Amino acid sequence: MSTSIQYPINEIFESIQGEGSYTGVPSIFIRLQGCPVGCPWCDTKHTWQVDDTDVIPIVELREKSADATTHARMSVTELLDEYDTRGYQAKHVVITGGEPAMYDLVPLTEALLAKGLSVQVETSGTFTLRCTDDTFVTVSPKINMPGKYQILPQVMARANEIKHAIAMQKHVDELKALLAQSTISSNTLIYIQPISQQARATELAVATCIKENWRLSLQTHKFIGIE
Ligand code: SF4
Repeated sequence: MSTSIQYPINEIFESIQGEGSYTGVPSIFIRLQGCPVGCPWCDTKHTWQVDDTDVIPIVELREKSADATTHARMSVTELLDEYDTRGYQAKHVVITGGEPAMYDLVPLTEALLAKGLSVQVETSGTFTLRCTDDTFVTVSPKINMPGKYQILPQVMARANEIKHAIAMQKHVDELKALLAQSTISSNTLIYIQPISQQARATELAVATCIKENWRLSLQTHKFIGIE
């Protein structure tokens, strides 16, 4: 296993997974810095740029503001040490971003699983995904975004769940077109998630789930005011 990789880490925190299949599960979130996809409604725009001038020591990561562009460079060993140092209790780890699939996640997912933790990766589907076979993969396909990245068939085929954020019918239609041209597992769950808890988006999401027999994902953490 290569452990030389240094991941740019925007933040690490313990909370409850608020979305998708793992909703309600206590989780450690590892947020990686970097994303070129450019979704206009992105709520983590501070993770987009990876700038060397924003690198901070690991100890400062614990105190930094959640929406700051600063990030620490951390090895797999340092990430595992951080879990212990902070006294985390959650047994599920969510690797998110930014776009975590920009990086080789095999060493990190291997190490977390070897530690006895379950691991989930959240990706936009626009980068070749490198992680262990036992990693639970959430693909939140970002279709026709300003960065002009394509959703990769390899990532759609690997998805354990597909979670699509919608605000209007156009977004539902985009997902249906993507699914029609993709090969996905018969076990893959499909979730529709209204963007930013908008009332009209929620209404459309409910109606779409009933019509298509898909599942509704709500950002439950936002309803109770936690990260
Ligand atoms: S892929 Fe995710 S992190 Fe990147 S711009 Fe879109 S919502 Fe934001």
